[in-house]
Amino acid sequence: MPASILVIEDEPAIQELLALNITLAGHTPMRAISAEHAQELLRNAIPDLILLDWMLPGMSGIEFARKLKADSSTKQIPIIMLTARGDEFDKVRGLEVGADDYVTKPFSPKELNARIKAVLRRRSPQMTDDPIEIQGLHLDPITHRVKGNDVIIDLGPTEFRLLHFFMSSPERVHSRSQLLDKVWGDRVFVEDRTVDVHIRRLRNALSISGHEDLIQTVRGAGYRLSAVKN
Ligand code: CA
Repeated sequence: MPASILVIEDEPAIQELLALNITLAGHTPMRAISAEHAQELLRNAIPDLILLDWMLPGMSGIEFARKLKADSSTKQIPIIMLTARGDEFDKVRGLEVGADDYVTKPFSPKELNARIKAVLRRRSPQMTDDPIEIQGLHLDPITHRVKGNDVIIDLGPTEFRLLHFFMSSPERVHSRSQLLDKVWGDRVFVEDRTVDVHIRRLRNALSISGHEDLIQTVRGAGYRLSAVKN
């Protein structure tokens, strides 16, 4: 599943390069030239990751990181700080305000992508494109293929995202509202029972290869994917 990545960088050439990199890595860039500009964008969309320049005109990167981490609607978003060699960057301070990682400019595209991937994997495993296999059920995020014991399973886009999310964090119970947040996205108005409808479709599809029991209902709590029989 592609991630939306907000780039906050005031130097146009570097911003261009970052956006290009993100696109080539299969993700979707959003761009802002200042913290103030980013705040406007954040009113309409919550990205999966923020690349935040340390030295910005107006509000500095560190101030903005602190602000994002203090706000309940943005505090979950992982942040990678961008610093220039020679900036008086203090790694400890950066990590103290809640940044997840930092990259020093000039960076190589390869290094940047590796950092992005590592942070996404840690924070939102379903955003990475690593194939996953659980008990003969195989999901490949790059080809969007799902196979159960080598039988191709046809899934709609929502069921695919749902399964990808479950397979990325097996054994964990997710409430309906957590699933709405993670699978449908923030700030989308969908009723809780929509989740039940898609769970039912997902189980139906998985029944072709006998994998429907992997998706378990946990009474009063939500759903989980578990390889352990209920
Ligand atoms: Ca700058």
